[in-house]
Amino acid sequence: LHYDRIATRDGEINSFLALSRVRAMTQAQKIDEMAAKGEALPPLAGVPVGIKDVLVMQGAPATAGSLILKGYRPPYDATVVSKLEAAGAILLGKLNCDEFAMGSSNENSAYGPVLNPKDLSRVPGGSSGGSAAAVAADFATATLGTDTGGSIRQPAAFCGVVGVLPTYGRVSRYGLIAFASSLDRVGPLTKTVKDAARVLQVIAGKDVMDATSSGRPVDDYVGDLMKPVEGLRIGVPKEYFGEGLDSEIRRAIDATIDGLKMVGCVVKPVSLPHTRYAISTYYVIATAEASSNLSRFDGVRFGLRAEEANTLSAMFRKTRDQGFGAEVKRRILLGTYALSAGYYDAYYRKAQQVRTLLTRDFVTAFADVDVLVAPITPTPAFKLGEKTDDPVQMYLEDIYSVAASLAGICGVSVPCGRTKEGLPIGVQIMAKHFDEATMLRVGQAVE
Ligand code: GLN
Repeated sequence: LHYDRIATRDGEINSFLALSRVRAMTQAQKIDEMAAKGEALPPLAGVPVGIKDVLVMQGAPATAGSLILKGYRPPYDATVVSKLEAAGAILLGKLNCDEFAMGSSNENSAYGPVLNPKDLSRVPGGSSGGSAAAVAADFATATLGTDTGGSIRQPAAFCGVVGVLPTYGRVSRYGLIAFASSLDRVGPLTKTVKDAARVLQVIAGKDVMDATSSGRPVDDYVGDLMKPVEGLRIGVPKEYFGEGLDSEIRRAIDATIDGLKMVGCVVKPVSLPHTRYAISTYYVIATAEASSNLSRFDGVRFGLRAEEANTLSAMFRKTRDQGFGAEVKRRILLGTYALSAGYYDAYYRKAQQVRTLLTRDFVTAFADVDVLVAPITPTPAFKLGEKTDDPVQMYLEDIYSVAASLAGICGVSVPCGRTKEGLPIGVQIMAKHFDEATMLRVGQAVE
């Protein structure tokens, strides 16, 4: 059924890059047999899911949206992939994304942009644009995306679905093609908060293959959704309601906050004073880490190798020249610059110091409130091509998402209304480290 829908409609949306039919059919059969025998079914039995193409699935192409990985088929599964399958999910295939997850509109994919199913003239957001579009178009019940600086939450908002950024360390990154290792996180996109809780329940937890994954016990996300939200303290950070915020989004967020008051939440204004430094801090740290991570793509180990080179260094150069897109090259240049001997103190070290200040802002705020409620995007989904000429305009899209990324806290984007034109609006709920349960509970109250 889901493959039929993909065949009919994904020609124009372009969310899937590869289908894993054999694996899906084998799993579906297995679940059918279990059901026929009357065996107890695992928690995601028969649930069709899609995987962002920066996560590896054994034997399936993994491109990360880049030409440089064309033809690469990894020999193993990411931990999140094997956990989903062990929980009964049916893996449909790999989803389009911005190249190496760098972007906010999915226009940086070497395999063509993804279109927003709610309005085909608009972008689905990025970099998990395929993951958001596939849920919005009913190709999959749930998808996995990754969020380094907003890439789950922002496309979820643009496509009118739910997207969860788990706390750093809550979900294993083993088998994720790294962009910025201190920021990268894997999380679910779904139609409802409850479905997101179900998927997070399965993928969360310690993984011996990822030393940064946390051994803290995983809360009962699904069960905790039943608890009342009455009495919870909601912080509204004033820095998230500045000039650039679209007036219809502002109204929708205000209405959401009023709704939370009506169900008994206590609303308090709070301040996160370093917010205005978040974008510049993020783009120094993310590009620095990317320049280091991407040095493994050299034409020797994975995917593409330029043919017409006669020395090793010419082969490196030509492979990278042909394989990496413009945005990836821009970031490698920015990142190597920020890390270079003469500039390290001025940019990279300074950015790390500001990152600590941004994290402290949140820790201080969470001493007084349980969650923060704010916009996730300054505007609704924009038109294809609207921001591609100006990278800085595109980076400013991330103004409300990157602070939570830098601080390592969790966040969720939940649909909270539509613009007059009918475009989806999302609200962001942030909670302290490892408090996904409270965050999702508030998410369900606003949905
Ligand atoms: N838009 C941000 C960037 O381009 C975030 C990307 C992401 O979260 N993967 O870096």
